[in-house]
Amino acid sequence: MEKNESELTLFGALDAFPGDPSHDVCPTRAIRWDGQNSVAFVLTDDCIGCGLCISRCPYGAISLEDGLTASVEAADPAGLAITGPAMGEHPEVNRSGQIATLDVPAAANLPGKVGALDDGRTTLLVRNLLNEVGLNARTRRRGDTNVRIDAVGFSRSERPFVAEIETGTGVLESPRALIEDVAVLHSRYDYPVDEIDPVSIILSFPNVRSEYYQVVRDIEKVLGLRCRTITIGALVALLWHCATLDGFDGDAFTIGEGTIDLAECLGLDDAKLPEPYPGAFRPVR
Ligand code: SF4
Repeated sequence: MEKNESELTLFGALDAFPGDPSHDVCPTRAIRWDGQNSVAFVLTDDCIGCGLCISRCPYGAISLEDGLTASVEAADPAGLAITGPAMGEHPEVNRSGQIATLDVPAAANLPGKVGALDDGRTTLLVRNLLNEVGLNARTRRRGDTNVRIDAVGFSRSERPFVAEIETGTGVLESPRALIEDVAVLHSRYDYPVDEIDPVSIILSFPNVRSEYYQVVRDIEKVLGLRCRTITIGALVALLWHCATLDGFDGDAFTIGEGTIDLAECLGLDDAKLPEPYPGAFRPVR
């Protein structure tokens, strides 16, 4: 299960951004091919239950077994099995319905499983989630110490965004790093500062009393830069609802004077969307 080259192309000048060239759909490479039996299978120990493969499978042959890890349907009543993996011979993916509800164990396990991923797998997860919810995006090449920016991409209106990905204790540093990222995007890629949306992509919101929220407000007050915040849990929620994201322009995902609730920003119909795990949608109290 791989992405096409065209999916990894960025609009305009940002296509020069040196991104991760990986075509893998699964961020942990948990999907394997059993050549002897012509069947795909999932290494459950490596599966983080993100749902990316389920969203991508054109045959609907993958599901979250017991709401925990991906499982490939091995029975082949329609004779779909082929003798080896073949690119470009599959129908278009038509996403609809719901991959899983947000109260399944895989959702609750995300902080532990994603938090344990290495840097390369984390950025691959984020890139693929952004792509799957409809955004043209690219993440930094793993191990590339010359590039400071974690991710770049575009909203649907082709407005550029720049992102810092933080799944550990460095959340507080993320808005400060975004200032640097905006400067790089402006000076090296020639985008006007007021047309760049900076966004922190984090695993969980820090405690409501964390300095994070004040730093974001300070940056907006002094520099006029509106840093957005989205969590990996929110991206997974969109993916599991087969929904899309317009981008990071506008007021959504910003931290105003009060607090932030991503359930309200996601544009999903269900007003009582359960939080997949604490801190996924709103600051922990
Ligand atoms: S659910 Fe995610 S981690 Fe598990 S096999 Fe699918 S893409 Fe890989």
